[in-house]
Amino acid sequence: MRVGVDYYPEHWSPERWETDARLMKEAGFNVVRLAEFAWADMEPEEGRFDFSWLDKALDVLGRNGVAAILGTPTGAMPAWVKERYPEVMATGKDGKRLEWGVRKNNCFSSGAYRLLSERIVAAMASHFKGNPNVIGWQTDNEFGGPQCFCLSCRDSFHSWLRRKYGSLEALNKAHGLHFWGQKVSAWSQIPLPVDYGAHNPSLCLDWQRFNSDLNVRFQADQLRILRELCPKHFATHNFMGLFSDLNYYDLAKDLDFVSWDNYPVDEGLPGEFPYRASMAADVMRGLKGKNFWIMEQTAGPHGWGTYGRNVRPGELRKIAYQQVSRGADGMIWFRWRSCTAGREQYWHGLLGHDGKALRRYEEAKLTAQELHKLAPLLEGTTVEAKVAFVYDYESIWATQIQPGFKENYAKERALRLYSALRRSGVDADMIPPSADFSKYSAVFAPALYIMPDALAKRLDAYVKAGGVLFFNGRSGVKDESGLCHERTLPGLLSDALGVSIEEYEAFNDSRISYKIRGSAELPGEYASKRYCDWVKPLSAEALASYGEWHLDGYVAATRNRYGKGFGFYLGCEVDGDAFYDALAACVLKAAGVETLKLPEGVEASVRSGAGRRLLFLVNHSEKELQAPVPAGAKALVGGEGLKDGVLGLGRYGAAVLRLA
Ligand SMILES: [Zn+2]
Repeated sequence: MRVGVDYYPEHWSPERWETDARLMKEAGFNVVRLAEFAWADMEPEEGRFDFSWLDKALDVLGRNGVAAILGTPTGAMPAWVKERYPEVMATGKDGKRLEWGVRKNNCFSSGAYRLLSERIVAAMASHFKGNPNVIGWQTDNEFGGPQCFCLSCRDSFHSWLRRKYGSLEALNKAHGLHFWGQKVSAWSQIPLPVDYGAHNPSLCLDWQRFNSDLNVRFQADQLRILRELCPKHFATHNFMGLFSDLNYYDLAKDLDFVSWDNYPVDEGLPGEFPYRASMAADVMRGLKGKNFWIMEQTAGPHGWGTYGRNVRPGELRKIAYQQVSRGADGMIWFRWRSCTAGREQYWHGLLGHDGKALRRYEEAKLTAQELHKLAPLLEGTTVEAKVAFVYDYESIWATQIQPGFKENYAKERALRLYSALRRSGVDADMIPPSADFSKYSAVFAPALYIMPDALAKRLDAYVKAGGVLFFNGRSGVKDESGLCHERTLPGLLSDALGVSIEEYEAFNDSRISYKIRGSAELPGEYASKRYCDWVKPLSAEALASYGEWHLDGYVAATRNRYGKGFGFYLGCEVDGDAFYDALAACVLKAAGVETLKLPEGVEASVRSGAGRRLLFLVNHSEKELQAPVPAGAKALVGGEGLKDGVLGLGRYGAAVLRLA
């Protein structure tokens, strides 16, 4: 198992490198990622390459048993690039080129930038291909730079549309350009959507797809070179969890595995449950349907201007275990030592500005040693979930472009349901709409705004064959062009869900709220917020109804028997967690998925494979808690508090047990 840090030898004098490498070795670290912002040090002037400093650093690290992942350095360009090729700078919506001196500020359609990128990557790959201490590559850094509105991007967008639609007639139809008399008679007439709140939503959706494709193409240019020159090295990229400006499925496709950068500390209050980080991990695992690495793991308070809170004792280790429990097979903390210069002076590392190995280093060291001990057992295991969420970038984008109601964030709506599952100990996969649904007992498809007919038919067939489907308001509304379907909602899923929605509304005034009355199976009284479908049950039975005079005969949540399966529908957004817990319980019961009774604050996950099942119990709270443990389970790490089938977990405690 690879455990280590993000390291910047170029930030420190070479005399310090030996001390750093020795401290890494003592901590049990065996890998660093480096060089992803060192273009100017490796190509100080155009065409003159200098890797001598990096050779020396790799040599020092290698002698201490620390291998290297090299980052291609195109996330931050040297000053000479901008000076010689000013057109490589991205252009803002105002038509002005961005100022140099920040990172992620290049135009991705710039031929000059693409050539310069290929040249530095080829030079690095040629130089380091035979270095026994280099094991792999990270492409660029956190793809997702600014959208560029330059003339080159305009031309590229027009070509992209021409390739996609073939004719202007097809484009006019797909974008619905009869509205506001926007039909175009030449490709060059197509505008760039500078305002997602006002431009044609179908145009905005294609512009988002185009920008995603530009990033994917830029990465593919680099990967072609790396694959040719360094066939034995792996290639990955550091994704950003729930960041969604790019289609991450496309970006992950040509990589060996996905890595991601995890900074959960500032989500909520200390001791609150960071299910967002779990969901992000599941999204990362879902990109390729396989385990992932953490390329940047929280090491301390961080921020560019202001910074957040520090990790409390035990928290750094706990954050790492949450990720391992969801499929992380590599753990790299960002960063080794807090830098004394630049915009990330306060992005604190395991070592402070003073270079001393203090508390955070010691906790990472303990974690590294435990992970090495676990490594042979983790090998060949992953999360094997019975439940899946359809996670679709196109629907996320379309919702951003035209949300329909205030605070309609597709990912947040998924997170509400996902958190309910995690609270009951149920593992979930995050899968693309193209995935095979048949292996899952239940599929949640919340906020699936974009619904091509083929997808609706596959979901219908899934339910008919015995699957359990959850669907909710503003799902299935639009086709892949972003046009509203010409059908009564929920369209092709009407039979599977057994409901009809002819009317719906949003509440702009947050004081408007509808009472919701539960039922025997979904007991309780609740309040809706922000959105309401007037759901007419056809064959479906009501699980919850509205307590409002004008909604007599309409219902809020339903269950429908269809073929061998069930279709659930929720027509509103509800305040608080209790409703989602109760609704998720109904869905899981129909699907026959077992739930766990866990103390509030404990997250449970299972990694299975190779004839083993490993149970992870993570205490996210600042209370000491007792978690029941299945009979015969043996503690591998963190099991000091195991007695009579109950595991005591201290504040931020984490344990791994092998199930019988
Ligand atoms: Zn551009």
